[in-house]
Amino acid sequence: MRLLWCKNCLLPNTRPNLFIEKNGFCSACNNFLKKKNVNWKKRENEFNKIVKIIKRKKLRYDCVIPVSGGKDSTWQTIKCLEYGLNPLTVTWRSPQRTKIGQENLDNLISLGVDHIDWTVNPEIERKLTYESFKKFGAVAIPMHLAMFNIPILVASHFNIPYVIWGENSAVEYGKINSKYNQKNLDKNWYKNYGVTHNTTAEDWVSKTLPKNKMSSYFNYETYSKKNFKTESIFLGYFFKWDPLKTYKISKKNGFKAGKSARTGYYKFADIDDYFISIHHWLKWYKFGFTRLFDNLSLEIRNKRISRSHAIKLIKSDGLKPPLEDIRKFCKYCNISTNKFFHIAEKFRNKKIWKKNKNNKFFINNFIINNWNW
Ligand SMILES: [Zn+2]
Repeated sequence: MRLLWCKNCLLPNTRPNLFIEKNGFCSACNNFLKKKNVNWKKRENEFNKIVKIIKRKKLRYDCVIPVSGGKDSTWQTIKCLEYGLNPLTVTWRSPQRTKIGQENLDNLISLGVDHIDWTVNPEIERKLTYESFKKFGAVAIPMHLAMFNIPILVASHFNIPYVIWGENSAVEYGKINSKYNQKNLDKNWYKNYGVTHNTTAEDWVSKTLPKNKMSSYFNYETYSKKNFKTESIFLGYFFKWDPLKTYKISKKNGFKAGKSARTGYYKFADIDDYFISIHHWLKWYKFGFTRLFDNLSLEIRNKRISRSHAIKLIKSDGLKPPLEDIRKFCKYCNISTNKFFHIAEKFRNKKIWKKNKNNKFFINNFIINNWNW
């Protein structure tokens, strides 16, 4: 395949669900341009109507907010409180939560909400993480299975009518056609954009991962006959989402950024977990770009940085692997770093990676011509 780059941002056509369209822009950039035509006042009114419907029900909790303590979930919580909702906030507890992640989560709870910190059986989570790394070269499948399932489980069991998510990543980062329902996180969305390699909990059941130990990953319907349907909506559909905007609002409300970026460009994103950097790093093997490309592309679209300056930042970054986090991951999975790179190597996309005469891998048609491979 020929690697094609968006002429506006820094994303290539290898990014899942992203296409370079007729105007040379990627679908994420074109989605961004379409946002200019959105009547945000109308969308806000739509949200207001939902709030009124919920409040009329006089429930114990009005909505579930899936939270990590990050800038986006802090923003979601602030917004919901602003509109008078009484949310139950729910976290899938990452086994690799950072110190700053815990502090930010504590801050979020202190805004005035009840909270559930849901911990998955650590041994099962560890095995599943390693299995998914071996099978798909992906370390975040257990995270995504848990993250998308647990809040809905909680909402369904407590008869809470809405789960309020943050931004619609399929709209912000890639392809979603205009006919597609952008408001709801439904089964179709989860299947296509849930970052689980199209797997469900059932697909991972084995002797070492028995179904009765994987309860957190199985959806509500698996064990319950009760006919309660909770609706999942994206707050980013009703209010324009921009990472810098959500950061500024959250910062005013006690959220703290890191001292430097853990991965990518932002020091206020991807800071609450040690392994997220590995999840993003593996994109280099598979798709020929890293988290830095994602973040800088958002900055380009928001016109806070030029494309040429962003390319300079990539050059100065050098795209080195996150070795410290890789070591932590290896310790967690009880494997050597050699084994890690051996497995990662299996997922190098040979359609885009070729070997040069010095027997070194390089990407044909990389965004930067004179890259030092
Ligand atoms: Zn683009």
